[in-house]
Amino acid sequence: MDGMKTAVKEVIVVGGGIIGMLTTRFLHQAGLDVMLVDQGQLGSESTWAGGGILSPLYPWHYHPAITTLSQYGQQHYRALCQQIKTETDIDPQWLPSGLVFTDDTDLAAARAWADRCGANLQHLADSQALHACEPQLAEDFHSGLFLPDVAQMRNPRIADALRTSLRLLPITLAEFTRVTRLASNDGRITGVYLGDELFHANKVILAGGAWTGQFPEMQAVNVNIRPVMGQMILVRGARDLLKRIVLHEGRYLIPRKDGRILCGSTLEMNGFDKRTTPEVAQDLLETACRVVPALQGLPILNHWSGLRPGSPDGVPYIGEHPDITGLYVNAGHYRYGVTMGLASAQMLADMIIGKTPLIDPTPYRLNAERTPTAEWV
Ligand SMILES: Cc1cc2nc3c(=O)[nH]c(=O)nc-3n(C[C@H](O)[C@H](O)[C@H](O)COP(=O)(O)OP(=O)(O)OC[C@H]3O[C@@H](n4cnc5c(N)ncnc54)[C@H](O)[C@@H]3O)c2cc1C
Repeated sequence: MDGMKTAVKEVIVVGGGIIGMLTTRFLHQAGLDVMLVDQGQLGSESTWAGGGILSPLYPWHYHPAITTLSQYGQQHYRALCQQIKTETDIDPQWLPSGLVFTDDTDLAAARAWADRCGANLQHLADSQALHACEPQLAEDFHSGLFLPDVAQMRNPRIADALRTSLRLLPITLAEFTRVTRLASNDGRITGVYLGDELFHANKVILAGGAWTGQFPEMQAVNVNIRPVMGQMILVRGARDLLKRIVLHEGRYLIPRKDGRILCGSTLEMNGFDKRTTPEVAQDLLETACRVVPALQGLPILNHWSGLRPGSPDGVPYIGEHPDITGLYVNAGHYRYGVTMGLASAQMLADMIIGKTPLIDPTPYRLNAERTPTAEWV
């Protein structure tokens, strides 16, 4: 640790979930001297816990700013996964499973959205079309929608691959080390405190997921991020039992490459309490078996929860603090931080190195107008 604090870092990134790890990767690639700090192991919180669907669940329900970041991820994750696999020999299992919806009540809104953003949407107008798309669906579903281009990644694997790739680079990584407060002087960031020790940096990026809103500097400018817990179960399944990611009334089933099936999830606001409950596991299993009867009798292999970094409308905060020069935020991605993470990390890295960001940053600014969704209030 002594060696770490002697020199002034160009950038310290606080929080090593997918957002912090990707941001660090891009800044290092641009030639900056970066340090990444996490209070636990890199990638072990929401990034580990999530489903890895590379799309919003009902994309037409969301702010266009979410669509823009998501589409970038959909186009570029495959290449990133290939690159990281080459670097680390860990396969994040990017898989183009497609996303099938078990009804078509949203057809008009979905078509309008698909026309606007050029997405490939298929209407599965009758039972035959629906079951040809996903043969394992229960017989009482008679029509649906299909997004064939939606892919997934396996969260623990992308977390492991990114962590391993960073460890192979000459980057200072401080795991199991908490940033207790920020240091600034005369409206400019000067560093972070790890415990009582000050580490100097010209720029600091807060990428602390659900914990980001706890820094007083965030509260001062209404960066409103709070934890929203999601519970998930993993069922044994069998290889090729389920072909598609299936979405039914807000809940989903995700078939992994080895046949295991993830079933999620809940939206629970209990602060930072991540305890799971057996009732929720049972409820998730019952929903899954109703949707895919072949799952009946299969054992639950694992049950866990994660804390999503909730924000009022799900649009992440990406940009510089309006009152503290050199302090940046990349957080609040709520339900879709994996999907949006690649574009947000690239966008913030571009801002920091002085390149025109690939996406207009206006809607993501810390002081941009945000209209809370019904889910949030
Ligand atoms: C059940 C569930 C299902 C999900 N499914 C999907 C999905 O299918 N698709 C999708 O796109 N998204 C999904 N998500 C959301 C997605 O996982 C998150 O939006 C994303 O992981 C957020 O990444 P992050 O890096 O901001 O946060 P995190 O992964 O939580 O990382 C934040 C890191 O910051 C560290 N930290 C915080 N404060 C400090 C501090 N003071 N000092 C040092 N370190 C600190 C933490 O230890 C943590 O490692 C899901 C989430 C859950 C919980």
